[in-house]
Amino acid sequence: MSDQAFYSGLQSKLETLRSDGLFKPERVIASRQGSEVVSQDGRTLINMCANNYLGLSGDEQTSQAAAAALEKYGYGLSSVRFICGTQTVHKELEQKLSEFLGTEDTILYAAAFDANGGVFEPLFDENDAIISDALNHASIIDGVRLCKAARYRYANNDMADLEKQLVAATEAGKRHKIIVTDGVFSMDGTIAQLDKIVELAEKYGALTMIDESHASGFMGKTGRGTHEHCGVIGKIDIITGTLGKALGGAMGGFTSGRKEVIETLRQKSRPYLFSNTLAPMIAGASLAVLDRISKSTELRDRLHENTAYFRKEIERIGFTIKPGTHPVVPVMLFEAPIAQKFAARMFELGVLLSGFFYPVVPMGQARVRVQLSAAHTREQLDTVLKAFEQAGKELGILKNN
Ligand SMILES: *Cc1c(COP(=O)(O)O)cnc(C)c1O
Repeated sequence: MSDQAFYSGLQSKLETLRSDGLFKPERVIASRQGSEVVSQDGRTLINMCANNYLGLSGDEQTSQAAAAALEKYGYGLSSVRFICGTQTVHKELEQKLSEFLGTEDTILYAAAFDANGGVFEPLFDENDAIISDALNHASIIDGVRLCKAARYRYANNDMADLEKQLVAATEAGKRHKIIVTDGVFSMDGTIAQLDKIVELAEKYGALTMIDESHASGFMGKTGRGTHEHCGVIGKIDIITGTLGKALGGAMGGFTSGRKEVIETLRQKSRPYLFSNTLAPMIAGASLAVLDRISKSTELRDRLHENTAYFRKEIERIGFTIKPGTHPVVPVMLFEAPIAQKFAARMFELGVLLSGFFYPVVPMGQARVRVQLSAAHTREQLDTVLKAFEQAGKELGILKNN
């Protein structure tokens, strides 16, 4: 406590964040997560900013499944997986995830951040090349940093640039090459062109990896993910993803792929070897979620109906959105102060959503990001659309006016 300059330095950096409008306050919720939440001040808000795509966070069936696993397997294990932290429920979940994703084997982590953090270093070294989309998630960027492989970056979703980087890595004589992309990019709702990526991978003898955090459970006809959406099930080498978004929303992550890959990760992946096992109640609830969505596509279908409805209506009102089909809907407001004012006004009108502006998105691309859920009712969506219209009129940003 003797270095006062350290603390005053932090204080002034925090003040700069505040004065630049970049400080991220926490919104405190006093209820379960859901399409409606009760805020700390007692107001009920319609929630349009959770990654709760299938509506399973806060869902009673999910909670019951967690409670049953809690009762059967206890609260925790006080151990990493390989010493004495593996229960039957963990093995069952790994097997079920492999079946769901169409892979050979799966390894669980405490978070997708750990899955991505621990996937590259055990599998690749300085003789290899990692070719990564420029907009990949922070956890992929960190994971790549921990690995000695050469790094190549291609412009977001740009297949011509990807091919350029593949040529460069080939000319550099790299032994193994792996193309790495988010299946869906969470700021824009853009879907990676996996059919083309797989084609390029075949042409250049490269491996492929996708992060399915914004896709597992609801993309593709039966919700398997972006690889199903793009018709390339069985053609992706490594799939990572989270249990903390559509698949129940608590926490946990996974890496899935060929047996040799997963076995190597069990021996060498540091976040797996040196961090506690996933709580059994989360494993149990995740199993129940996978069972439920494997039996019926009802939740996935409702999510896509809600998404199509919202996308159509918000444009009709006169807002500009990034075109697409994903339940992430960026409503473009372009200027940062307008996005901030807009989100604040929507909060007053009873709608919870998030504004994003530079440096999270490019300059002049400020927006509020709407995320649809299967749990939203048509009535809730209509209420939200009315609030959008009112706030849009007040701020004079509707195209038709
Ligand atoms: C949310 C997210 C993660 C992190 O998932 P956690 O399980 O919360 O650590 C990783 N990758 C992508 C693309 C994500 O959107």
